[in-house]
Amino acid sequence: MASRIPDASLVTPAPPGALAARFLAWYDRHRRHLPWRMAPGTPSDPYRVWVSEVMLQQVRVETVARHYAPFLERWPTVEALAAAPLEEVLRGWSGLGRYARAHNLHACARLLVERHEGRLPEDEAALRALPGVGPYTAAAIRAIAFGRGDALPPVDGNVERVVARLFALGWEPGTPDTRRRAELRRFAASLAPDGRPGDHAQAIMDLGATVCVPRRPRCGACPVQDACAARALGVADTLVLGPKRAPRPKRYATAFWVSRPEDGAVLLRRRPMKGPLGGTLEPPSTEWRPRRAWRAAEAISAGALPFAADWRRLPGRVRHALSSYEVEFAVMTAADVPRALDTMDGAVWVGREHLEGEALSSLARKLVRHALAATRPRAIRHRRRA
Ligand code: SF4
Repeated sequence: MASRIPDASLVTPAPPGALAARFLAWYDRHRRHLPWRMAPGTPSDPYRVWVSEVMLQQVRVETVARHYAPFLERWPTVEALAAAPLEEVLRGWSGLGRYARAHNLHACARLLVERHEGRLPEDEAALRALPGVGPYTAAAIRAIAFGRGDALPPVDGNVERVVARLFALGWEPGTPDTRRRAELRRFAASLAPDGRPGDHAQAIMDLGATVCVPRRPRCGACPVQDACAARALGVADTLVLGPKRAPRPKRYATAFWVSRPEDGAVLLRRRPMKGPLGGTLEPPSTEWRPRRAWRAAEAISAGALPFAADWRRLPGRVRHALSSYEVEFAVMTAADVPRALDTMDGAVWVGREHLEGEALSSLARKLVRHALAATRPRAIRHRRRA
């Protein structure tokens, strides 16, 4: 059963219809102007909605706003995206991270062309059968692109927060996340309006992003403040909104920074297309393992590096949090680079001026930034003097 915190039942929520009207009126005046949004009440192009929703998965709105228009300019239709080589799409995805989404987007475009005449289906089951389309994305496409409000609404992190506070919901420690989310969706559905389901969904998303923010919600600017149970109970800022995340296990690895002496081009390795970060480029590195970093000789014998050299460790470490691990890299570099490096599997030389536009994961970009900073002539001179 859904769990309203003690005393929440003392707060009488306003009728859902009244709340829905207030959300929509607030949206009409205060919505965020985002490149993928149409004016309130105007139907949206399903392709544009789909691309934006995939890009927005766990990525900041500001980041997506920078990448969305160039991506759409390059691939304005499902057909154009389906016809593009995967490597190009991965390059176009550069800066958005989590490249599995780009793989799915591309595979999905091809499937839409083959089986759906290049159109996204309206039916929930058909949408869910597409690669990378989960319950949230399907609900968002149906509500925002097709104006369908006949199923559960899209509930992202912002919507979860607004709904949990509005109804003062709480859960026993250990409640499975799937159950918590299902309950939140049910409460969110109780707010659904008679029309404009897409605008309604985006209204609550925007309210969560700009007013009902994680810390110190701005309740004075909220259109449903008088109906909010958390506010009435004085717990808007302290309500526990979800289970505490278990600490991620740590992994360690060593990356190798190899720069071609004649032009400064950098040696990168393309990861296999199948598997994590498939098809992206990165500095060659060892496997990740649960104990401290590898030594160079050890990495060479394990096949992580194709050549022996006088490796030296660059100062500092690179730490990066992934969904299942926290990884820590030591970075090594060598001054004496052999010429016959092209034998390395999947290796490419990339000019420094092209690094920005290549398909590098966020982790690979951190490694590159770290190595560039640590090998800048000034940094080296400074270390020598020290
Ligand atoms: S009143 Fe405050 S806590 Fe309640 S929904 Fe509005 S902003 Fe969030």
